Amino acid sequence: MKLSELFSQDKLSLSFEVFPPKTDSAFDSVKHATEEIARLHPSFMSVTYGAGGGTSRYTLEIAKNIKQNYGVPTLAHLTCVSSTRETVREKIEQMKAAGIENVMALRGDLTPELEKSDRSAWAYRHAVDLIRDIKESGADFCIGGACYPEIHPESVDQKEDIKYLKQKVDAGCSFLTTQMFFDNNLFYNFMYKIREAGITVPVVPGIMPITRAGQVERAVTLSGSFMPQRFKALVDKFGSSPRAMQQAGIAYATDQIIDLFANGIKNVHVYSMNNPDVAANILNNLSDILG
Ligand code: FAD
Repeated sequence: MKLSELFSQDKLSLSFEVFPPKTDSAFDSVKHATEEIARLHPSFMSVTYGAGGGTSRYTLEIAKNIKQNYGVPTLAHLTCVSSTRETVREKIEQMKAAGIENVMALRGDLTPELEKSDRSAWAYRHAVDLIRDIKESGADFCIGGACYPEIHPESVDQKEDIKYLKQKVDAGCSFLTTQMFFDNNLFYNFMYKIREAGITVPVVPGIMPITRAGQVERAVTLSGSFMPQRFKALVDKFGSSPRAMQQAGIAYATDQIIDLFANGIKNVHVYSMNNPDVAANILNNLSDILG
């Protein structure tokens, strides 16, 4: 199923993100975790490409398994920053052969080595180059792009960030998924600004349930997310007790999701980090709301 079809429906949807294993030896346990999440029948599952500690090698294998054996629509991520055009074309062909219908087209993070290298030699400088390339390849994917309610860390300001976001949409993105945020007001404010800038595609908010105190620092460093006082107090109080922190983090994420649904958002994506318990608890908390 193309996700544009899902997003055009009137019903509420909840989806989960998983990431591929970092090493070959971790493949079986990661595959098992993604299957446990698939058994919960989320609206779709996204599989990252080299993010969150995973490698890119297994993205397709996991996405294909979830789709073919569990009937869950999948969104396969693809990054381009360190790739050649030949590698990307090869990946596109592999995706087509695997029956993938949805692709999240990303630039990828700049490693220190990439930061130092000669950018004029790069085949892809920005995600928009990948989106155009996918379109030119003739592949009939539903393409998604990333967006940043709190501004991408490399952007000068939000106006510039939104200007480039519009280019991605104009190049062929059918929907956008946001970076995680912990204060819904930042998302509502962002939505107002992008709609004003003429971006009309569906925007899926990405919610990260923080279930370990250690994730907080990572979230702040990686995405520069703002931590509201209410959230900081929760981590201070429960951070030293893993079970209490998991329960409190899931409750906080559930609260964010309910607020989004209550304010007219239909589709929410959860950064479930290969954790079937987290995914199951969130779905359980929302069972009557999702219907
Ligand atoms: P871009 O859209 O290229 O934007 C990057 C920066 O360049 C921004 O500051 C933007 O304003 C600017 N920019 C964009 N276009 C232009 C232009 N034409 N000229 C000048 N400046 C421009 N990383 C992974 O490695 N694997 C994943 O699977 C993955 N999944 C993700 C999923 C989501 C929903 C999100 C939000 C992020 C994900 N990331 C992933 C992280 C992502 O790769 C990084 O945030 C990366 O730094 C930017 O990727 P992008 O596609 O947003 O880049």
